Amino acid sequence: MTELRNLTPHRVIPAEQARRDRQQRGRLRTFLPELVDLERLLAEAPGSVTTRVADYAGVSDMTLPIYRVDIGSEREDAPAVLLVGGVHGLERIGSQVVIAWLGTLISRMGWDQSLLRLLEDIHITVLPILNPGGMYLNQRSNPNGVDLMRNAPIKAQERSTFMLGGQRFSRHLPWYTGAPETGMEVENLTLESVIRELLPDRPFSVALDCHSGFGWQDQIWFPYAYRRRPMRGIASVLALKLIWEQAYPNHDYRFEPQSRHYLTHGDLWDYFYKQINRDSNGIFLPLTLEMGSWRWIRKRPRQLFRLDGFFNPLVPHRHRRVLRSHLAWIDFLLHAAASHRHWLPDPASESMLREAAIMHWYRDTN
Ligand SMILES: [Zn+2]
Repeated sequence: MTELRNLTPHRVIPAEQARRDRQQRGRLRTFLPELVDLERLLAEAPGSVTTRVADYAGVSDMTLPIYRVDIGSEREDAPAVLLVGGVHGLERIGSQVVIAWLGTLISRMGWDQSLLRLLEDIHITVLPILNPGGMYLNQRSNPNGVDLMRNAPIKAQERSTFMLGGQRFSRHLPWYTGAPETGMEVENLTLESVIRELLPDRPFSVALDCHSGFGWQDQIWFPYAYRRRPMRGIASVLALKLIWEQAYPNHDYRFEPQSRHYLTHGDLWDYFYKQINRDSNGIFLPLTLEMGSWRWIRKRPRQLFRLDGFFNPLVPHRHRRVLRSHLAWIDFLLHAAASHRHWLPDPASESMLREAAIMHWYRDTN
């Protein structure tokens, strides 16, 4: 299953090749165990789980696979759920949550008749580790130093937050957007091609991109990041929030437009949302799960002395709690996608919900 290629195509004797492969696998087990876990999981998955390498990302002398996993209905008009992890290499917990959920799903596919029936109605695509090079290096950006979440061709309409909103000064500083003339990075082009192929003809699709690091609480962010005014589909976001909170009142996600926190250049999901809206009549809701890592630090201030401690729960019981605490939300998205006709606002309630959403989230915006 491991698909590693040497960047240098010069002739290598087989024994030497085997030694290098062994060495690389050892390095992966140490620096990118999530990839090893994912490959093990996928190797044991049933035939109805399709795995392919969407592209490769280079890091030092290796190329690492960007895996794409597809499950469920092949109908082009089936609602789709897209799950993404590992955009920011330092926020490993995002990938780990996605892989843990995928493990649960694959295991249940062996016996759960109701799940198999659900999968006849929806299509699921998972990109568990979008930025394997960044994760291997344990850094936020990709190996070129580009922050993938600042790299899309879209500019903030108002003043973005200094530096954090995306900067073009240097790849050696955080939040580097990349040079505009070089276009998007390979990881983002991979995601773009998946989205272009997957989403346009569907009546409903939802994406969940899993991050960590901002705030005390788990948050669900939605566009926009480039402007403060609401997105077109804001009524649908509120409708989704309402059915979630009615069904799961003991969960505690805070739903907010990203612009309430800060404005950024180059936000990937703003860019994809605008593209899909332009090319498709369906509803597309791109959501970001931002797991609040400050709680993990508060409970264990020593974590501050480790860079990954800012973004990941380091204590085993807390780590396991995080892995299980988002399963219900992701399962909910599957069911919400399958039954979108039963909760998406009809034209009569759309304007009312939109007004309510503006009152709720945009009262201070003029
Ligand atoms: Zn992030």
